[in-house]
Amino acid sequence: MTRQVRNYVGGGWVDTSGDDGEPIVNPATSDTLAELTYSSSADVDRAVDAGNEAFESWQNRAVEERIQPLFRFKQLLEEHQEELAETIVTEHGKTKQEAMGELRRGIENVEVACGIPSMMQGGHLPNAAPGIDETAIRKPLGTFVAVTPFNFPGMIPLWFLPYAVATGNAFVLKPSERDPLVSQRMFELLDEAGFPDGVVNLVNGSADTVTDLITHEGVAGVSFVGSTPVAKHIYETTAAAGKRVQAQGGAKNHVIVSDSADIKFSVEKTLSSACACAGERCLANDVVLVQKSIYEEFAEELIKQADEMTVGYGLNDVDMGALITPEHESRVREYIDGALQDGATLLRDGRDVSVDGYPDGNFLGPTVLGNVEEEFDISQDEVFGPVVALARYDSFENAIARLNRSEFGNAASLFTERGAEASTFRQNTEAGNLAVNAGTAAPMAFFHFGGRKASFFGDLHAQADDMIRFYTDETIYIERWPSA
Ligand code: NAD
Repeated sequence: MTRQVRNYVGGGWVDTSGDDGEPIVNPATSDTLAELTYSSSADVDRAVDAGNEAFESWQNRAVEERIQPLFRFKQLLEEHQEELAETIVTEHGKTKQEAMGELRRGIENVEVACGIPSMMQGGHLPNAAPGIDETAIRKPLGTFVAVTPFNFPGMIPLWFLPYAVATGNAFVLKPSERDPLVSQRMFELLDEAGFPDGVVNLVNGSADTVTDLITHEGVAGVSFVGSTPVAKHIYETTAAAGKRVQAQGGAKNHVIVSDSADIKFSVEKTLSSACACAGERCLANDVVLVQKSIYEEFAEELIKQADEMTVGYGLNDVDMGALITPEHESRVREYIDGALQDGATLLRDGRDVSVDGYPDGNFLGPTVLGNVEEEFDISQDEVFGPVVALARYDSFENAIARLNRSEFGNAASLFTERGAEASTFRQNTEAGNLAVNAGTAAPMAFFHFGGRKASFFGDLHAQADDMIRFYTDETIYIERWPSA
């Protein structure tokens, strides 16, 4: 019998009861792994009610008590990391090494949240006014929801869950309907970690489920990560419903390679940034602006290194896995075709890749396009595939200006040996995450993570101290004792 994806509500597993659903399919083999029936409005009510009921007592538990299940959860994640990684590979398509890596970044967030007793402290000022002491007290707010995307199904829920519950809130996760199985396993581990019933809840579904959650009167706030149009919609709808909201959107990241850079090193980092997770990353640097004097040499080295990459089933020893669905693979192919029609040069074609033993996988090899002009769609839109678009630049200022004209502002990288260029880049680039001589500007869990412009809607970002502020409200308390 096909496995059914279930909800975890009020400390137990329950079936979903919607009218519609979809299969969970292995992107490398096309095998059906499970069936997902979307949650109905009643299922959503049940999860939010369970959260709010649990919140009544959870918020008043001593903070030391609240972090004990998180310590256990961290230990369980470590013990089960391989198994969780394999689940991610089978439902998402990335390589096992990539899946292990995303889980590591997720676990780091659990570790940071275990420091809530220090991080959640408010301020206190004796004699703020004559004879008056003033204190800022951080208080949790209720039940928070996180709606997450398909591309990091193990890591992204952990940008939110540990901080939400450590600060004393209850939590509902709505993972991507494309790859919900790793969340199933993580919630089994959360159950084992020993949270009181209803503190952590899992609701499966699609867009309608999200609408029910973000407009629910019992929900205090919403974190969203996904594509820009949906992020904008979530931001507007949740704010209109009077709730806190942070919504991370899509990206179009650029890398600038100056003629002072080490070419081999910058190619290696650029290629892995663009093609890791088959390009399905919001931090993928896929538009590469190369100073014109080294353009040919850079392109040649890029093709050479791309030729060495192996593509296949992520559980085997390969460099790159499959794309999430056949529809998405077709979309990426259309972007390549469109760029060629626009006038780009095909420097390396990944479209004819075939993987022995996996004829039904959604595979695409690394593709390199040259002479990609700014106005081409492939320069403007998020492609989310293993495609590197190269362009020449003459002056550094022009390269920064092209990068800044992108509607997105998630991340950017610069390869250079010149301090002055690094300084200008740091000061003038309009993106939330910047890297010099590194391909991926990924912050550690103790720094916040968020983009700018169409890559982010809100003010407080994911991870670290921004999450503490998002999940708490500061009550100001003043005290006077005239007889003292
Ligand atoms: P998506 O926007 O299609 O889906 C994300 C979530 O939103 C899913 O849980 C889905 O069920 C829900 N959803 C989809 N349509 C909806 C609608 N109309 N109303 C309400 N909810 C809806 O994104 P995806 O394809 O799963 O993920 C890829 C996107 O996520 C890319 O654009 C990528 O850049 C972005 N992303 C951004 C970051 C970041 O930190 N900025 C991180 C990872 C991924």
